[in-house]
Formats: sequence, C-alpha cells, structure tokens
Amino acid sequence: MKNLDIQINVKIYAFEELSIADRELIEAARQATFRSYAPYSHFSVGAAARLANGVVVSGCNQENAAYPSGLCAERTTLFYANAQYPDQPVCTLAIAARNEKGEFLAQPIPPCGACRQVMLETQTRYRKPLRVLLYGTENIYELQHVGLLLPLSFDASAMK
Ligand SMILES: [Zn+2]
Repeated sequence: MKNLDIQINVKIYAFEELSIADRELIEAARQATFRSYAPYSHFSVGAAARLANGVVVSGCNQENAAYPSGLCAERTTLFYANAQYPDQPVCTLAIAARNEKGEFLAQPIPPCGACRQVMLETQTRYRKPLRVLLYGTENIYELQHVGLLLPLSFDASAMK
C-alpha cells in the first residue's frame, strides 16, 4: 500500500489587497446575488466571469419547485458566457453569497461539486487556467486554476 498525498495552494486575501479588476469582478458577483431567485433555500448566490476580451458576465442561482430543475449561480454564469461568447476563454470566475438574513457570508463560498465539474470543462475547453475567487467578507480565497478545486478530476483526457 502506498499513499498519494495531494496538496493544493489557496491564496487568502483581504479585499483591499486585490487588484482593481478583481474587486470589480467580486462586486459584480455580489450584485448578482440580488437578482437571485431563491424562494426555497433563501440562499442567494452570485457569480461573475471575466472573459479574455475583458467582458464581464454574471449570473445567480435559479431555483425551482422541482428542485433538480434549478441551477447554481456558477453554472448559469458559465453557460451564459459560453453561449454568448463561445470564442472567449473565461479567465476568472468570482463567487459571492448571502445567507437567509441577507448578509454576505463571512467565509469564502465554496462551489458545489457539479459546478466544479463544469468549471473544469470550461477550463479544458479553452486550454487556459480558469482562476477562481471565492468571496467572503473576512477573506477571499484565490485558486489559480480549477484543478485545485477538483483533485483527481475526470476530464476528456481520462477517456483516452
Ligand atoms: Zn453549484
């Protein structure tokens, strides 16, 4: 028996330490939470993606009485970006969330497993690292590519 230990690097920032571009992207994700449709969870998530051409697109969670029919903020954002700008790699994705009291979370919001898989596909599709910013009011996590969120990931290369 052997062990495979996997380490990931997460950079932790205070908001003031971020570049202006990253602050703007996080602000777009924060604003997107106010357009969330979350009558069931009362958990409002927003995401914003900066594309290689500089365009920023955003999305938010869209819930449904038939739960599986809803979709997370990260996927509404990435699918919109991919649908509207199929030739533009996604450079950075920022995620923010508010709890049922309407407060932004203090700690960084982690994406669910399904969204991580879609983020990985986006990164693979464009063959460029997709940077991820997970926003919390107390600190912000930066992951320099999606692989850090999904060790031992499954992508097209696994089928060869
Ligand atoms: Zn998700």
